[in-house]
Amino acid sequence: MRKVFTTLAAVAAATLLTAGHASAAGTQVYKGTGWQLESSMTASGDGIHSLNKNATYTITFADSAARKTLEYYYKPLADWMTKQTGVKFTVSATNLPEPTACSTAPIHTIVIGLKTRPMKDKGMSHTSPCYDTRDDTAYGAWIDMDKEYWDHPGWFSGTGKNTTLDFAMIWNANAHELGHAIGLDHPNTRDSKGVVKPFDCVKNSAGWRPLMCSPNGGPTNKTGVNYTAYDIAGIKQLVANYTLPAPAKAKPKVKAGQPAGVTALPARVSD
Ligand SMILES: [Zn+2]
Repeated sequence: MRKVFTTLAAVAAATLLTAGHASAAGTQVYKGTGWQLESSMTASGDGIHSLNKNATYTITFADSAARKTLEYYYKPLADWMTKQTGVKFTVSATNLPEPTACSTAPIHTIVIGLKTRPMKDKGMSHTSPCYDTRDDTAYGAWIDMDKEYWDHPGWFSGTGKNTTLDFAMIWNANAHELGHAIGLDHPNTRDSKGVVKPFDCVKNSAGWRPLMCSPNGGPTNKTGVNYTAYDIAGIKQLVANYTLPAPAKAKPKVKAGQPAGVTALPARVSD
């Protein structure tokens, strides 16, 4: 079993947000059956709590090679996300260089690159999500998809054929990383140190784990956008949280001039 890596990504605080989305009953929720938000794992509660309903999240690619391979997946993913959330996700035709820090990343933009072993580890992709320290909304992200999935037919099945399973797993890997980009964490059971126990997730009646389970879950018998009902509950909560007040312990802490961190989590291991 391969190690799970975490890295830090940071976002700079800019100006104070005018308050104004605290009205509905109850408070924000960060965890449920088969889903959890990345912010639920930070001691301070900082991190992505919600999707900004007033934003348009723009997906784009780091270069033409990444676009050529990946646009095929992210256009349907963007459409699906828009439909499910009511928040606009769009794919831009203009490539952008991959950010190296949240403090200099373009707002509400998800830049996707294609690299061989971006984590230096076989079969692992990676996402660095950023959050807006003014209100803990999803700020944007950059994603590095592992090029090996495409370079080696049968990467997931090991058969050398582009089977439904292989294609489904490629879809799931992309959807999994997009899930991280908007704030979803692995819903796995964790050990006493908070490290995920691989594959240790709830299953539905068909036997599928949440797509956000680590290593990637989701159905493997169909291709396309495969988020499960577990993942969808988390995605919908990211929207609901936007108009709910944060619990007292998870109030955004504005740190003027001082970047805050959010844990970025990796995707799929190949074995
Ligand atoms: Zn992951």
